Amino acid sequence: MTLVLEGAAIATVDARGTEYRSGHVVVDDGTITAVGEGPATAVGERVDASGCLVTPGLVNTHHHLYQWATRGYAADATLFEWLVHLYPVWNRLDAGITHAAATAGIAHLALSGCTTVADHHYVFPRDTGDQIDALVAAVQRIGIRAHLVRGSMDRGESDGGLPPDNLVESTEAALAGTEAAIDAHHDPSPDARIRVAAGPCSPFTVSEQLMREAAELARRKGVRLHTHLAETLDEQEQCIAENGCTPAEYADALGWLGDDVWFAHTVHLERSAIRRLGATRTGSAHCPTSNGRLGTGIAPVRDLLDAGAPVGLGVDGAASNESGGLGEELHQALLQARQRGGPTGLTVREALFMGTMGGARCLGRDGELGSIEPGKLADLAVWDLSGLRYAGIEDPVAALVLGTTPPLKLLLSGGRTVVSDGELRTADEAAIACELGAASRRLR
Ligand SMILES: [Zn+2]
Repeated sequence: MTLVLEGAAIATVDARGTEYRSGHVVVDDGTITAVGEGPATAVGERVDASGCLVTPGLVNTHHHLYQWATRGYAADATLFEWLVHLYPVWNRLDAGITHAAATAGIAHLALSGCTTVADHHYVFPRDTGDQIDALVAAVQRIGIRAHLVRGSMDRGESDGGLPPDNLVESTEAALAGTEAAIDAHHDPSPDARIRVAAGPCSPFTVSEQLMREAAELARRKGVRLHTHLAETLDEQEQCIAENGCTPAEYADALGWLGDDVWFAHTVHLERSAIRRLGATRTGSAHCPTSNGRLGTGIAPVRDLLDAGAPVGLGVDGAASNESGGLGEELHQALLQARQRGGPTGLTVREALFMGTMGGARCLGRDGELGSIEPGKLADLAVWDLSGLRYAGIEDPVAALVLGTTPPLKLLLSGGRTVVSDGELRTADEAAIACELGAASRRLR
């Protein structure tokens, strides 16, 4: 039950940013029991990780896994155009398609170093099976951790919302569905593999009543809150026209700021909003590739970090990020922050911090995930830097963040092997791809 990784560079991402040139990590029963320089004294199964970099498993703070079956649509559209194009496609979703898409999406995330995913699922076409059960089964099949955000939309076109009326739920059904998902699947224990959060979709698809009551429900149940916020200027203009305030002010007025809340995107924030997010410890899921794909703008990550707000990285749904890997977001986050703020806009280690510890903070898991320290869960990514691309590189963290995503020698979730030697070990990749192709064709 003891696993010893030796000979690797290690970036622990602990509070002091401790790193080892050639160190060891010891895993006992799914938990990290030792980390340090040089060889380990512990007895156990030894893995020679020389030529590798060990980091905490990456934490994905925002995704829509079902969208893995709807990639490549509306490739040149704005967010609102893209959504209007895709709503009718998503309305044909059933639990089988969601399971196939989520399985493939999670498998791909694992191969990019991800060990925890927050999935925001907000499409519930009528009489098409249990979408949440389909997601849970996909998470269990691949074997990583998930925070399933039970999303909802109750504001269709006839109420001034963006989605068609036949794709939204009633406010009561949305709240009841959220409570049922929490009761059925939320595990509050520290080593939980599945947690549930409440997630009304966005201000332009959700009524004020649902926003308020979802927050009350989440706090009564002790779960976290998530929604899309301040993603585009279109959203900001609509919010000001309807409510007389910006999206961040709207969220504040509805009781939606706090250390139990994390927002997706937060691209368009006024200075006062950045200060409020920092003061209230409200988190942001930064999704640079999706923001670039939809041309929404560059989130003020530097300012949010300086204000003390938790900032994690997110892939966002694959329909607006066809590549879908989390390792790539380290790279994209760094480039976008430097384009916005100049060469000091973000360091490579801050990018790694956001992809690990920052994400764990957003999900309320920084006590057990996000860094390599004794007592933490053994969710670890062992990146193989020994091949043609990175052999001999001076700074292994720079290789991971500045380069393209390296292959994985090993990916552990709670000490269990999910990926080894670049291949998925918990499920058959070819079979998953076949199911995904069939599911995608059914939606056309
Ligand atoms: Zn999203």
